[in-house]
Amino acid sequence: MTIEISIVAPIYNEFDNIPELYRRVKAVMDAQGLTWELVLVDDGSTDGSTERMRELARQDKRVRPVIFARNFGHQIAVTAGLDYARGAAVVIIDADLQDPPELIPDLIAKWREGYEVVYAVRAEREGETWFKRTTAALFYRIIFRITDVKIPLDTGDFRLLDRKVVDVLGKMRERHRFLRGMAAWVGFRQIGVPYKRAARFAGVTKYPFRKMLRLALNAITSFSYFPLQLATYAGFVSAGIAIIAIPVVIALRLAGSQFFGGQATTLIAVLFLGGVQLISLGVLGEYIGRLYDEAKGRPLYIVREEPEK
Ligand code: UDP
Ligand code: MG
Repeated sequence: MTIEISIVAPIYNEFDNIPELYRRVKAVMDAQGLTWELVLVDDGSTDGSTERMRELARQDKRVRPVIFARNFGHQIAVTAGLDYARGAAVVIIDADLQDPPELIPDLIAKWREGYEVVYAVRAEREGETWFKRTTAALFYRIIFRITDVKIPLDTGDFRLLDRKVVDVLGKMRERHRFLRGMAAWVGFRQIGVPYKRAARFAGVTKYPFRKMLRLALNAITSFSYFPLQLATYAGFVSAGIAIIAIPVVIALRLAGSQFFGGQATTLIAVLFLGGVQLISLGVLGEYIGRLYDEAKGRPLYIVREEPEK
């Protein structure tokens, strides 16, 4: 049987959300009269989500759990979902129901019109803290500014991808993944559909500040050299200042002025440049560390239990 739509949901301790996710996806998809499957990727859950997914799969063969050997992170879990999905189009959705499954028919409608990537745009957000909303808004704008790919603003991973796009993404095995950037990078015909991002149905966010920061760093380093170039710019600026300052200081000294005297001036200049150099080293380190990770060529994820064929 060919499958028209695969729905991929990454799951990390979403015990209370799984039944509701299944219920709503089933209601929407059955009403569409399409053949579909729900690929649930268990990203090392420890709260019993795994057993819940197995149970669902026993009841309904369209539910296909992919169970990881440990927690690999959201972007990797989605990647595995794309690898296992068999549909002619794949919808990526969060398991916490912040992305309403009821929007899927709208995504499918655009796909039928010929678009290969249909991403959902967060027109409104509810139930998220001021901090999350502000940092998210800032994040999308910085990424948009400094990266070479025009990643659409205020879009998450909630989107529909045509089989062609899924196959291309499947060949991009980079370790530090920023899927929405990668999906923008591949091109194809793309369009956005606005939606209202709901509050979580149950549970708490699995994206603490630390993980958000890592995702932001991955997004920037995967799509931009800007942080590396900053060191070059800073170098030119400080060299420029020195070239101007040297004759000025000499002239002032010859004229008998003590204006640039004293240890404090020297100390400040040394500390400032030392700081800039250390930051530049750190930036270099971020890129080199990522290179090192790629060089090791380890698998992106390890599956403990595969879904039934
Ligand atoms: N998630 C995951 N692995 C992780 C963190 C999150 O698979 O290490 C899943 C999580 O279960 C959810 C989705 O990714 O389905 C989005 O996470 P969350 O809702 O916590 O992020 P937020 O919406 O708060 O940004
Ligand atoms: Mg969420």
